[in-house]
Amino acid sequence: MNSNYSTQEVEEAIIAFKKIKRKQLLISIPYILLILAFIVVRIFSPELLSFNPFKEGYMGISGRVITRLFAGFMISYVIFSRSFWKCPSCHRYLGKGTPKCCPNCGIRLQEK
Ligand SMILES: [Zn+2]
Repeated sequence: MNSNYSTQEVEEAIIAFKKIKRKQLLISIPYILLILAFIVVRIFSPELLSFNPFKEGYMGISGRVITRLFAGFMISYVIFSRSFWKCPSCHRYLGKGTPKCCPNCGIRLQEK
């Protein structure tokens, strides 16, 4: 499957992919923390954070605004992480999960 690539190219791709994975993790941390904070506030004081558009939520912000902010935040994460989650060799999107090889060009991305 990797016959099109030299050993050096594969080694470089594996190193580059390690950096991509680290970057992806660093990007995810603030998002995960915010989502957790959101869930905790929802559980312990749902009156602060309401999805009900007719109810006032946190500091007088309506549920509709909060829902939109949250949706926008999730969309920004998807766009952001997708822009990083690319093959170091062919620069195409790698899809879900952590692939052993690039689904597009077949270069190996992780050591066995
Ligand atoms: Zn590729």
